[in-house]
Amino acid sequence: MGNFSLNLQDDSALKKVLETGEYDKELAEIALEIRRHYYGDAVYMRGLIEFSSYCRCNCYYCGLRRDNTGLERYRLTREEILACCQEGWELGFRTFVLQSGEDPQFTDAIMAEIVAAIHERFPDCAVTLSIGERSKESYRKFFQVGARRYLLRHEAASTELYAKLHPATMSCAHRRQCLFDLKELGYQVGAGFMVGAPFQTTENIIEDLRFMQTLKPDMIGIGPFIHQSSTPLATCANGSVELTLRLISIMRILFPYALIPATTALGTIRPGGRELGLKAGANVVMPNLSPVRVRGQYAIYDDKLSTGLEAAQGLEALRQSVAACGFRLVSDRGDVAKH
Ligand code: SAM
Ligand code: SF4
Repeated sequence: MGNFSLNLQDDSALKKVLETGEYDKELAEIALEIRRHYYGDAVYMRGLIEFSSYCRCNCYYCGLRRDNTGLERYRLTREEILACCQEGWELGFRTFVLQSGEDPQFTDAIMAEIVAAIHERFPDCAVTLSIGERSKESYRKFFQVGARRYLLRHEAASTELYAKLHPATMSCAHRRQCLFDLKELGYQVGAGFMVGAPFQTTENIIEDLRFMQTLKPDMIGIGPFIHQSSTPLATCANGSVELTLRLISIMRILFPYALIPATTALGTIRPGGRELGLKAGANVVMPNLSPVRVRGQYAIYDDKLSTGLEAAQGLEALRQSVAACGFRLVSDRGDVAKH
């Protein structure tokens, strides 16, 4: 662990690390040493299928929010989703991430049917869901038909910050409950938050880290906040790349076993941002397998990075950039290391 002398379990030391760039190089070195110990040079790829941009929620930061009436919405059919998986499977993807807004038209029965179909057709692949808050019973149904991973960023562990980013109909406590329910059911669970979200303080981030230490997530999704011009937070500043990278290294140190993506948001606000994420300790990339024609409509934030390339071409470019960072893109389910 080199000569790093600060104890990240201590809040005041952690605050110092978060607020100054002083330790960044050292943090990244330690993070890389740890990721090599657990995962070697492997970078896992997840095929992201953004299957619906409809959402019943109204999170203040997100372009898919219900009240964004200017957004042209889309839904993929079951057949279109399966076609994305087929294309991904042929390219070597062994994990599919089905993500959407909270779309009531994708009822539990329909979702379960889609998960079952993917599981049956691609038995060597992991199915990850990222479809927001549902009941424990719903999560159980999806697990029974083959879903094994679930991404649900907790967004903010601080009740006060959570309330500034969401309408009163949504609660921090319910989001946390969903995460614990998912864990209890046996899912590999992903939590996380936006770095530099409006109103977020260093203390809030420390609270996020401490909450995650109690949850012990298998996957950690953090990316910079990026404003979206049709949301109530349109004029807020974007999150910082430097702080995001620092946090990726801190996450790797606090959660050595975790699967941590270098997110699209990081690649959006800084060219080469995803590669910087890998060098800071991330070990997952999530290329988009959605049909090119709908990608622009999944407008979570402004100028969302999209190569416009078909999956195959995009993947080749990604393989090369991952290799240029000294890592290896692997075709593997990439389950979480034992912890
Ligand atoms: N609806 C599901 C949910 O909220 O969990 C999944 C889709 S949602 C678009 C996925 C993630 O996008 C959210 O967890 C949020 O952290 C992130 N996101 C939304 N708006 C964002 C923004 N303006 N900047 C960066 N990330 C954003
Ligand atoms: Fe909907 Fe998720 Fe966006 Fe919130 S973050 S508005 S739940 S898509």
